[in-house]
Amino acid sequence: MSITANISAIKKEIGTSNVKLIAVSKTKPVESILEAYEAGHRLFGENMVQELVEKHEKLPKDIEWHLIGHLQTNKVKYLAPFINLIHSVDSLKLIQEINKQALKNNRVIDCLLQLEITDEETKFGMDMAEAIEFLRSNEFQELKNIRICGVMGIATLTDNPEMTAEEFYELKTFFNGLKDTFFRKDPAFKEISMGMSGDYKLAIEKGSTLIRLGSTIFGVRQTKTK
Ligand SMILES: *Cc1c(COP(=O)(O)O)cnc(C)c1O
Repeated sequence: MSITANISAIKKEIGTSNVKLIAVSKTKPVESILEAYEAGHRLFGENMVQELVEKHEKLPKDIEWHLIGHLQTNKVKYLAPFINLIHSVDSLKLIQEINKQALKNNRVIDCLLQLEITDEETKFGMDMAEAIEFLRSNEFQELKNIRICGVMGIATLTDNPEMTAEEFYELKTFFNGLKDTFFRKDPAFKEISMGMSGDYKLAIEKGSTLIRLGSTIFGVRQTKTK
């Protein structure tokens, strides 16, 4: 199927729910992004800063760009002028730098806290205790140019749907706990970024508001990415 047909099929599945589709265009050429753009899609995700910046330069400026991969503090400055949402905040040091660069650009940058929902040690993200400590810290509370809009998680790569369901449930539970404790009066804290090509239907069932789909839209990737 074409990119256009894939997007329209997924949007039909999502229906009128408040789930938003992020088209993950990493490793794909600008032509592919333009095809999705021509079909009316505006929300794209990339996991590498340099690739995201290059695509942003070449493509129409009403595209909403999301960073979904790990972010190094020394690269924040390249994204700060235009990024719409950073999904991968997992340390105080990183968010302090995002705040600093946002201030320089006279804007507020929206962020998600990346939470660890797997037992693997390799993945980035905070556990619940670290997230609570982070949100309680004075250093965090001083920051005025960032806004926390919710949480993000990456499930274990497995073909066991029960395990995936359990991890998604955990992320939703973490979200609810943080919402009640820190963001009860903050309507901006509402996003749960979970679900990729292999597990997005389950993610929607479990309360996702942002699904991140690459291969389902653009086909399999040639180059291996993290
Ligand atoms: C690559 C990637 C995706 C999309 O993966 P697909 O399986 O192709 O849908 C989603 N989220 C993150 C964090 C990714 O790195």
